This record gives sequence, C-alpha cells and structure tokens, in this order.
Amino acid sequence: ERADDLAAHTGPGRTADGHPVALLLNVGGGDAGGAVDAEGVGLFRTEFLFLDRATAPSFDEQRAAYSAVFSAYPGRPVVVRTLDAGADKPLPFATAGDEPNPALGVRGYRIARRDPALLDTQLAAIAAAAAECRADVRVMAPMIATPAEAAAFAAAARGAGLAAVGVMVEIPAAALRAAAILAEVDFVSVGTNDLAQYTFAADRTLGELGDLLDPRQPALLSLVAAVASAGRAAGKPVGVCGTAAGDPGLAPVFAGMGVTSLSMPAALVPAVRAALRAHTLAECADLAAAAVR
Ligand code: PEP
Ligand code: MG
Repeated sequence: ERADDLAAHTGPGRTADGHPVALLLNVGGGDAGGAVDAEGVGLFRTEFLFLDRATAPSFDEQRAAYSAVFSAYPGRPVVVRTLDAGADKPLPFATAGDEPNPALGVRGYRIARRDPALLDTQLAAIAAAAAECRADVRVMAPMIATPAEAAAFAAAARGAGLAAVGVMVEIPAAALRAAAILAEVDFVSVGTNDLAQYTFAADRTLGELGDLLDPRQPALLSLVAAVASAGRAAGKPVGVCGTAAGDPGLAPVFAGMGVTSLSMPAALVPAVRAALRAHTLAECADLAAAAVR
C-alpha cells in the first residue's frame, strides 16, 4: 500500500492488512457517478426509467440509458438490477393497484410471473448495452425468495447473453437458503433495507419503527453472516448494497463476516474506506462475532 494513498484516502477498499473489500456505488437516475473514486457500481437501480409514465420504455430507450451508465465505468464492474417495481414504487403498466399488502405482493422479480416480456426486454437491452461498452456488466434480480426463482432468473439472463448473473438477498427465506441460491448464480448482494423490513415485520417507511429496522439488530446481522458464510463456502462474492453498507461502523463487521463488496451512495465512500483501513481482517472477524452476539 502506498503511503500517499493512505494519506489521501483514495484507492480501493482494504483492511489495515490489505484484505480487499470492494467499494462500489449505488446509482440510479441522473448522475452516473463515474467521476467518484470507487471501484465500480454495486447497485444500478433501473426504476427511474420506468416511473412516471403510462407504458414501459422501449428496448432502444433502455439500451441508450444503460449504455450511458456503463460507459462511465470503463473496465470496472457495474451490477445492474432489473426492475424493482411494486410496493413503494407502483407502476401503472406493471403492478396491480389493488393489493391489500403491496410489500408482500407481486413486486420486484415477481412481476415476471405476470409479464415475462417486461423482464426479457430489459435483459435484452442490458445485454445490448453491455456489448457496446467496455464495462464489466453484471445483472441481478430483486426480491428473490427461493432457489427456483434464482435458477429461473439465471436462465433468462444467460439466455439473453449475460454471463455474470446474481440475485439480491432481501427476503429472509433467501438468506436461509443462501447456499442453494448460490449454487444457481455467480454472486449475491444483500439488500439490508428490505431484509430488515421482512425479518422484523416492520414497514421500512415507518420512522416510528426505526429501532426494529436498525441494521445493528443481531437478527439481521446473523442473516448477513449466514449469507457471507455460504458465499465463502461456495467461493462466490457476497456484497451488501442496502443502507447499512454505507455505515462506517458496520463496514469492518461486514468485512469480518466475509462480505466481499460494499455498495453505497458516493458521499459515504471516504468514511467507509477509512473505517476498513482502521482494522485488520482478524480484528474485523472479532467485531463481527461480537456484533452477532
Ligand atoms: C434493499 O432493499 O436494501 C435495497 C438495496 O434495495 P431497495 O432499497 O432499492 O429496495
Ligand atoms: Mg430492496
């Protein structure tokens, strides 16, 4: 490690003893964030393209929007998430407006049950944009509950020509079956926002329940640790991309569990980088064990 890198607080995510934990960005909408000193994009939310309109964006419109983001990251990974509509993000053409419990309804990947063409068009547009750019494009699905869903998504994505396929782990059932899910895909990324909501049966939009939604809750951390441990056993990457990934107090904890990347808003990268560099991997493992206890 070069001393001037440390002094300038730049460069890749590393613990004090050099163990890598990639620092990635959450992007979506206007600013692609390419100028930020990060190692790539860990969560490209694509909802912005679909919101506030009566019909789905065309293949060409999607391809152009994805290319604009991918081309900002030459040589770096960009994890693009397929449409996560429903619940707090309803769409007139994709989601049912009459569900009594939208957070438990046909949202995220589940929309493909009703409208597989919407997902297939998006995957084709992502693949076309990836072919145009030099970014290392990976794709993942939101709201996966079972290994069968992970397998079906992986088949659709690979069928569209995408080689690196993952899923989000944001439903407790998926965390409990992480090993079986990892057998179907190349990587997973833990969405702590929804994982907290579904683990504690606490609406993520209710500030009144903030104590239950706190990512330091041991039950949530136990689930993240179980997913990370399944990833280590499978030799496959496990990222964290929910709000907790940008918490400098939790970064060493996640590193100690074996999480391989943290994805966050650009403004949080420097503090997370500094927090990782303050501890060796062995210290991180001790912090992880203490946090789960
Ligand atoms: C999450 O649920 O943690 C996540 C990253 O996805 P979103 O916040 O977009 O639901
Ligand atoms: Mg989510």
